[in-house]
Amino acid sequence: MLITDIIAKKRDGLELKEAEIEFFVQNYTNGIVADYQASALLMAIFIRGMTKRETAALTLSMANSGERINLDSISGIKVDKHSTGGVGDKTTLIAAPMAAALGVKVAKMSGRGLGHTGGTVDKLESIPNFCTKIEIEKLIEIVNKIGICVTGQTGNLAPADKKIYALRDVTATVNSIPLIASSVMSKKIAAGADCILLDVKMGSGAFVKTEEDAVSLAKEMVAIGENVGKKTVALITNMDVPLGNNIGNTLEIIEAIETLQGKGPRDLTELCVVLCANMLELSQKGSYEECVKLARNTIEDKSAYYKLIEMVAAQGGDTDVIYDTTKLKNAKFEYQVKAQTDGFLSHTDTEEIGMASLLLGAGRIKKEDAIDYSAGIVLKKKYGDTVKKGETLALLYSDDEKLFEASAERLIAGTEISSEKPEEQKLIYSKITKEDF
Ligand code: URA
Repeated sequence: MLITDIIAKKRDGLELKEAEIEFFVQNYTNGIVADYQASALLMAIFIRGMTKRETAALTLSMANSGERINLDSISGIKVDKHSTGGVGDKTTLIAAPMAAALGVKVAKMSGRGLGHTGGTVDKLESIPNFCTKIEIEKLIEIVNKIGICVTGQTGNLAPADKKIYALRDVTATVNSIPLIASSVMSKKIAAGADCILLDVKMGSGAFVKTEEDAVSLAKEMVAIGENVGKKTVALITNMDVPLGNNIGNTLEIIEAIETLQGKGPRDLTELCVVLCANMLELSQKGSYEECVKLARNTIEDKSAYYKLIEMVAAQGGDTDVIYDTTKLKNAKFEYQVKAQTDGFLSHTDTEEIGMASLLLGAGRIKKEDAIDYSAGIVLKKKYGDTVKKGETLALLYSDDEKLFEASAERLIAGTEISSEKPEEQKLIYSKITKEDF
């Protein structure tokens, strides 16, 4: 078999055989297929798409490209949660400790930032000494002891996805339904949880922009999960507006802590309650209504906040900065973006806002780029708010003052102010389960 034949076949819009997909995945993982050949194939997949059979084969080949973790030595139902990526999406840092505080076992592997979206691993690494490279045995030990561990894609878990994910990030091949579905589900299958909750983001800041694409991505992932025997549920949620007010690694850690202390923004708090309730429902903790009450209570009684502290301690992180977030490293410079007119904030191109944050140093342009953890954006106005000319729309943070101009330009380009109050938007659009097909 030749990789050039496989690229040409997909370029010409033909269906690949399982063996051809397996050949690509194995040989890209072990370095025989070069980055430039993999890039060509990914672009052909991006443009031509994949049939359901091809996507399922790609997912399983990627899941089997490394170790598949066995979590049987953790008692109880293990629930995993995964977001398809958004701007300001720090829900894992909140919903996972909430669920763990109620006895759900969360052995979670998270990713790094991709394109304009942030990643949980980058956010956690802004906590001094926090370890995101936990070996499987240690992960199991931590979950058995405190119920939760959130680490990076350890050791040899879905190494094909690790390579393909990094390559897609720098070759404009991220927002493709088969590539997202196979990337997410290969990791979830290899990570060994019993149940999977998927948060499929939809809107201007997500990789899928339309309801039609979001529903088809959600259905594809739920079908793949259920076919390998994992109870899988997907929520389709709003990413037309950044989630919460803070964007950027340290800034998002601060907002997650505030939310766990009951002082978070409404949209973020509500979404985390719903995510946690779904995790509880998947682990059979009661009816959905009971699970919502239980979830809310973990914020009121601070049990989820203390669970996060336990997790940070177990993973070697400095808990002082969680008790007192002013001890986290601040950016050297601040810049105010002012409104240029009166009106209502009527639209955000949230991808542009994510790019504005990335340009400040909060994300990567090339896969080997280092991150400025303190860089990012604090939104002072959000969708629907009234705005007066000269008022601050957002605060930008960076260690490099020269980055402000280009970032502010993108933020302004991504923000529309109009004279009419816009319609309210939904936070959660729908829930997809196996009963839906
Ligand atoms: N999250 C993933 O894990 N993979 C993608 O491709 C997109 C979001």
